[in-house]
Amino acid sequence: MTGLSRDKRIDEAPKRVTVLGATGSVGSSALDLLARDRGAFAVEVLTAYDRVDALIAAARALSPSVAVIGRPELYSTLKEGLEGTGVEAAAGKDALIEAASRPVDWAIGGIVGAAGLEPTLAAARHARVLALANKECLVCAGDIFKAEIARYGTTLIPVDSEHSAIFQALAGENPTRVERLILTASGGPFNTLTRAEMADVSPQQAVKHPRWHMGAKISVDSATMMNKGLEVIEAFHLFAMPEDRIEVVIHPQSVIHSMVEFCDGAILAQMGAPDMRTPIAVSLAWPDRMATPVKRLDFATLGALTFAMPDERKFPCLRLAREALRHGGAFPTLLNAANEVVVQAFLRREIGFLDISEIVETVLGGSSFPSPNSLEDVLIVDAHARMAAAEAIRALGRIFVAQSVVAKTRMI
Ligand code: NAD
Ligand code: MG
Repeated sequence: MTGLSRDKRIDEAPKRVTVLGATGSVGSSALDLLARDRGAFAVEVLTAYDRVDALIAAARALSPSVAVIGRPELYSTLKEGLEGTGVEAAAGKDALIEAASRPVDWAIGGIVGAAGLEPTLAAARHARVLALANKECLVCAGDIFKAEIARYGTTLIPVDSEHSAIFQALAGENPTRVERLILTASGGPFNTLTRAEMADVSPQQAVKHPRWHMGAKISVDSATMMNKGLEVIEAFHLFAMPEDRIEVVIHPQSVIHSMVEFCDGAILAQMGAPDMRTPIAVSLAWPDRMATPVKRLDFATLGALTFAMPDERKFPCLRLAREALRHGGAFPTLLNAANEVVVQAFLRREIGFLDISEIVETVLGGSSFPSPNSLEDVLIVDAHARMAAAEAIRALGRIFVAQSVVAKTRMI
């Protein structure tokens, strides 16, 4: 994290803001906060990928300078929907990157996956504060991302609830006195299932998170615990902490969002209701605070807070992410891209839940790349992992077909 450079400091209200991924779960939480105090914020950019109606509604409500839809074929629908509003319409990847490059006081990176890499990197260069939800950016291109943040003097504030908790606990502290970061994990919807019971879970069951309402990809990641693995890598980059000093603890109530242990034995925890509007508000008002309507914790009815160690045999994705981080180089990029492909395949019911970790492991084991030194390198590694994962899925599909043919033959 870096301080603000003088030439980027813009003190006059209202704050100019950009929301990348405005139609998503994080994006909607950000819009909710912005809409509550229209006088305090001037919205510059709203973006979405394909939910054009939701983008039009958001743009009509918040009057940004420009609304950008990722899919070019939706341009005319967007333009028609914005007629008479004065909001500029734009479409396509280049327009997304151009809009994300507009100088603003605060931009939130709420796009999901490596698809967010280029626009989020553009925002990292041109926003005064980058509020980062898109953890995949740091996982697949952490060093490149951090170098650009430093080069442009941008302030990076994490929005992922665990990292926001650590960011808050570290405020005013000497980072060299930190002994351990303790990331809490809800354990996801399958925390109490055995591995055998997980074999037949459906996408609907996997996206039904017990504590948080999130997009489909991160919900599946929470169910496999890949999300926590990605968050270990995210914490490594954000807080310059070695992998073996980033612990994960299962805390199903999701009341403590994470903790920092110092060399004197003190542990600082950040608590609150599981609602992304709090970490977003932290980033929006930092170093001040702003009011939110988030439900307050009622300690009288809270009951017990429980903790357990994660079982990496039951959730191999957590182990794979730690291994990728320990090996470094291209491995986190491979892990992330392979995971994105298999999660989508699982959501389309092409593979089973347990295949997710198996295929990611296959891709990691079968690939060897030098450390990516540029965005272009990252995109090459990412593309390779996607092809390798797709190939592994196809191979699995052939086995499924073969088995069902055998079964039918036997019945006859
Ligand atoms: P989501 O699926 O609800 O929303 C994703 C957004 O990204 C949408 O606006 C979508 O239009 C946009 N998008 C998708 N593909 C795109 C593409 N190819 N190009 C441009 N835009 C694209 O996801 P989410 O749950 O809001 O998560 C967003 C990010 O925040 C993820 O990286 C996730 O890990 C992280 N995060 C989410 C939460 C949460 O509570 N949802 C918590 C912590 C971190
Ligand atoms: Mg999180």
